[in-house]
Amino acid sequence: MPQMRNFLLMFLLLNCFANSASAQSESMSDEKITALVKKAWNDYKKANFEKSLITSRVALNYATAAKNNYLIAKSYKIIAGNYSELSEFDKAIFFYNKGLFYANKTNNDSIKYSLYNNLGNIYCFEKKQFDKGISYYKKSIAYGLKINDMSQVYFTNVNIAWAYFDIGKYEEGYPYLKFVGNNIQKYGDRSTGIVVNMLNGMYMSHKNENVSANDFFKKAIRAGKNSEEKSDLAFAHLEYSKFLNKNERHKEAYENLALYDKITDELYNQEKLKKASSAGFSLELDEYKRQIDKIENEKDSQYQSLKKSRIIVVLFILISLILLFLIITLVKNIKFKKKHNLELLQAKEIAEEASLLKTQFISTISHELRTPLYGVVGITNMLLEEHKELSRSQHLSSLKFSARYLLSLVNDILQINKIEENKVVLENLTFNISDEITMIKNSLSFLSQKNNNKISITIDPEIPEYLIGDKLRLAQILMNLVSNALKFTKDGEVEIIVKLQKVEGKIYFLDFLIKDNGVGIAIVDQGKIFEKFVQVGRNDEDYQGTGLGLSIVKRLLGLFGSTISLESNVGEGTSFLFVIPFEYDPQRTKNIIDEIEVDLTSHEVYRILIVEDNLINQLVTKKIIEKNNYICKVVDDGFGALDILEKEDFDLILMDINMPLMNGFETTKRIRLKGIRTPIVALTAFDKDEITDEAISSGINDIIIKPFEPIKLFKIISYLINEAKNELSINK
Ligand code: ADP
Repeated sequence: MPQMRNFLLMFLLLNCFANSASAQSESMSDEKITALVKKAWNDYKKANFEKSLITSRVALNYATAAKNNYLIAKSYKIIAGNYSELSEFDKAIFFYNKGLFYANKTNNDSIKYSLYNNLGNIYCFEKKQFDKGISYYKKSIAYGLKINDMSQVYFTNVNIAWAYFDIGKYEEGYPYLKFVGNNIQKYGDRSTGIVVNMLNGMYMSHKNENVSANDFFKKAIRAGKNSEEKSDLAFAHLEYSKFLNKNERHKEAYENLALYDKITDELYNQEKLKKASSAGFSLELDEYKRQIDKIENEKDSQYQSLKKSRIIVVLFILISLILLFLIITLVKNIKFKKKHNLELLQAKEIAEEASLLKTQFISTISHELRTPLYGVVGITNMLLEEHKELSRSQHLSSLKFSARYLLSLVNDILQINKIEENKVVLENLTFNISDEITMIKNSLSFLSQKNNNKISITIDPEIPEYLIGDKLRLAQILMNLVSNALKFTKDGEVEIIVKLQKVEGKIYFLDFLIKDNGVGIAIVDQGKIFEKFVQVGRNDEDYQGTGLGLSIVKRLLGLFGSTISLESNVGEGTSFLFVIPFEYDPQRTKNIIDEIEVDLTSHEVYRILIVEDNLINQLVTKKIIEKNNYICKVVDDGFGALDILEKEDFDLILMDINMPLMNGFETTKRIRLKGIRTPIVALTAFDKDEITDEAISSGINDIIIKPFEPIKLFKIISYLINEAKNELSINK
C-alpha cells in the first residue's frame, strides 16, 4: 500500500524534526552544575560579584539545558543576590521572580522560602513597599515552618516586626517581635541582638514606657559597638535619637543623630567605593543580563517550537489516522461494492434468465394453447355450419363461447407480456379515424344488441380524414373500452367522442372520450381496475372477461406516451378519457393510400397445398379453404411437401411451422432450393413478431397467425397469387 509507506516516511521525518527542535547545545551532569552553583554562591558571599555572576550565568545555562528547575531557580537566586548587593534592586526583583517561577515547579520549599524572604527584604527596606514586602515575608514564613527551619523563621519575624514598626503599625508588628523575644536565646546572634533591642526600644517608646525603652536602645547600641553590622548600629542610633527627641532630651538626641550620620556616611563611602569598583563592571552586568535574557528567550522559543512541532506531529498523526481510516473504509467499500456488484450482476443474470424463461414459457404455452384452440373453434364453427339443427344447442354455444374466451385470454396474456418486455413497437399506418371507429361499432353490434345499448359516434370535423399512426393499437384500446362500456350498461347509451385538442406542427392531439350510462365504478375500485386480472363485482351470468382489458389499455396508451383517466359514479355511468397524438401529413398519406391493397379476392379456383401435422387443424384449414371453392391438398410434414411438389403444381402453400422431422422454415428453404417460387404463407400459432425474421430469411412470403379470420387468409392468398402471376408475366 503506497499511501502507508508515504505516511511512515513523513512520520519519521517529522519525528526527526521534532527531536532536532528539542536538541540542546551541550549537556552537563547535575552534580557539576550543582558545583558551579556552589562556586557562584561562595563568590557571592565573598563579595566577588563579578565572578559570582559569571559562574551563576554558566550554571544557569547548563541547568536550563538539563531542565533542572531547582538548579535554574538557584542560579537565578544568586544572580538576583548579586544585583541586590550592587544596589540594582529592580534587576534583583526581576531575577528573584524568575527564580520563584522555576522554584514553584519544584518540591523544594527551602529555596521558595529564601526567595520570598529576599523579595520581602527588597520590597520593605529598599523599595519601601511595606505591604508587598510583608506579604512576601509571610509567604516565606509559611515555607520556613514547612521545612521546620526555625532559625530562618526567626529572622523573618525580626524583619516583619521591623517593617511594621517602620510604618508605625506597632501592634501588628508586636506579635512577631514577641516571637523573636521568646526565641532569642535559641536563634539569636549578634546582629539580631542590635535589631531586636532596637525594636523593643521602639515598641516601648510607642507604649511610652520610656525607662524600658531607654534601656533597650542602650542595649542595642552596646551590641552594635561590638558588632560589625554598622548599618544596624546606625539605625539603632537613629531610632534612639527619635526616642530622645520625643522625650525632649534634645542634646542626646542630637548626639545620636550625629552618630547615625557619621556611620551612614562611612557606610555610604564604602558603598560608593564598592559601586565605583564595580562601575565598569556594571556595563558588563547589563551585557550578562542581556545574555541571560537571550538564554531565556532561546529557551522560550525552543520550548515554543517544541510545543509547536509537537502539536504538528500530533495533528499529523491524527490526520494520518483519519486518512488511514478513510482509506480502509474506502477499500472496504470498494470490496463491498465489488461483491455487491457481483451479487447484483448475478441477480441481474438470474433475473434476465428468469425473464427469458418467462417469455419462452409464455410463448410456448400460448403456442401450445392456440393450436388446439384453433381446432376447437374451427370444429365448433364447422359443426354449427354443417348441422344447422345444432345452432340452438346450449352446449355447443357454450363450447364456442369458452373456446373464444380461452383464445382471448391467451392473446391478452401474450400481448401484456410483449408490452412488458418492451417488444411492442408502434407502427405508422394511414387510417381514416371515422372508418376505424365505425368498424369497431359494427363489430361490437352483437354486444350492444345483447344489452340493448345504443352506440353513438361524434368526431370533431376539425380532425383530418386521414391520419398516420398505429391504428391497430388504437382499435385495440377502443375495442376494450367500448366493449366494457357495453358490458356494464343495460338499455343505455355508449358514446364515442373524439375531439381535436391541439395541433403542434404535424402532430394532431386527439381527445378520446368513451362514455356510458351504465353501472359505474365505485371510487374505491377506480384505482384497482387498471391492475392485471382485476375484476369488480364480476357477474358470470352477465359477461365473462379476463380482467386484463384495462391493464392492456393502460399499457398500450403508455406506448403512445399517454395516460388514461376515468370519471365515474355508481349507478350513473363511466367516462374514460385519454389523448393520443397522430401525425397528419397529406403527402405521406397519399403515398400510403396509393399502396393500399385493393380487394383481390377473385372467383378463380386456386390450388392450395396445406402442410400441417395436426390432424384436427388439417381438417379445419381444409374446410375453410374448400369453402371458398379452392382445391386443397394436405400433406403431414415437410418431406411430404417436397414429394408432392415434385409431381404437382400449386398456386400457394400454407405451411405450418412447428412440425416434427422438419419444421416449416427448413421445408421452405428446401422448396426454394429446388427453384420452386410458389408463394408460401406460414400458418402458425407462434406470435408473428417472434418468427418474422426467420420466416423471411427462409423464403416465406407472409405469416398468418392461427386462429385467423378466413377473410384475411383469402385476401393474402389472392394478393400473393396475383403478385406471383404478375412477376411471372414480367419475367416471360
Ligand atoms: P374485464 O375483462 O373484467 O372487463 P377489465 O380490465 O377490462 O377486465 O376491467 C376491469 C374491471 O373494471 C371490470 O371487471 C369492471 O368491474 C370494471 N369496468 C371496466 N369498465 C367499466 C365500465 N365501463 N363500467 C363499469 N365498470 C367497468
